[in-house]
Amino acid sequence: MNYYSEKMIAMAAVREASDLCRTVQQELKGDSITKMDKSPVTVADFGSQALVCSRIRSAYPDDPIIAEETSFVLRRDENRGDRQGVVQRVRLIRPDATEDEVLEWIDYGGHKDQSNRFWTLDPIDGTKGFMRGDQYAIALALIVDAEVVVAALACPNLTLASSPEDKGVVAVAVKGEGTEIYRLSDMELIGKAEVSAQTDPAGVRFSESVESSHTSHTNSQKVADLLGISQSAIRLDSQAKYVVVAAGDAEIYLRMPSSRRYVENIWDHAGGMLIVQEAGGKVTDIHGKDLVFKYGYQLKENRGIVVSNGGLHDSILKAIESTTLVG
Ligand code: AMP
Ligand code: MG
Repeated sequence: MNYYSEKMIAMAAVREASDLCRTVQQELKGDSITKMDKSPVTVADFGSQALVCSRIRSAYPDDPIIAEETSFVLRRDENRGDRQGVVQRVRLIRPDATEDEVLEWIDYGGHKDQSNRFWTLDPIDGTKGFMRGDQYAIALALIVDAEVVVAALACPNLTLASSPEDKGVVAVAVKGEGTEIYRLSDMELIGKAEVSAQTDPAGVRFSESVESSHTSHTNSQKVADLLGISQSAIRLDSQAKYVVVAAGDAEIYLRMPSSRRYVENIWDHAGGMLIVQEAGGKVTDIHGKDLVFKYGYQLKENRGIVVSNGGLHDSILKAIESTTLVG
């Protein structure tokens, strides 16, 4: 199966959405961050979803989209301000869009159930990072017969070691065809991504979420200690962590469950997983099980996430198994 046109549409969609997100984040700089006003992130989140869904919908009218947001809240009277904000932002890119259309585009992402072929979207992955002015991603993936086959991740604030002068990259993968990194500003190809071959603990870098409510920093430190890793964790928000491993800027991304009940959502991992796999790395849950994209929007059969350059994978899983996890 050839997914060339899906890849092109996905790249264009996340790039366009990142234009909207970047302007909102730039305006956030300053006092609104300290006020922790949720409105800008709401506007960017819904605006991004509207743009991506409208593109997918016009290119592939039969493909459902499982995205993080629904317009339910936005349609309420008391949220008129945010609703207008979203429409205004979207109109900067789609000048003719009406309010009804924008809400409809957002709702097009409201699917929850499994189907043979569907897209999954996180319009702003890492909203906490977005609020802080740090890392976030627009994450899109196509799933066919429970397999992730196309992935596009735009990371507007990410700089990779291979291209230190570029801030903002788009990582793109097609199953069986490798992972490519593009410069976000002009979508020029920077190069193919390849995981690091490093397995010597002294040189190993591991990445994890900034938020201790999303991953147990205590448990990942225990695992890192067991592996003999001496460098401190690289903490990043969003699926930028997957891109960093794919590009060889870190060897490991660990997501140790911070709660017994939490089930991971597919839009937080589908794109990142393919991007790492196609760069030569490995992705499983903390028990070594492959991620199972068979249950609609949730990774019901999995717990936590282990991402590595491949060479380190078995020793990470062994370290997790032999650690007494707290919490
Ligand atoms: P990160 O930026 O890696 O911290 O991941 C952000 C994502 O974490 C969000 O998109 C949420 O869907 C997800 N999330 C929210 N609560 C939890 C939790 N308790 N455990 C793991 N992930 C979570
Ligand atoms: Mg997310």
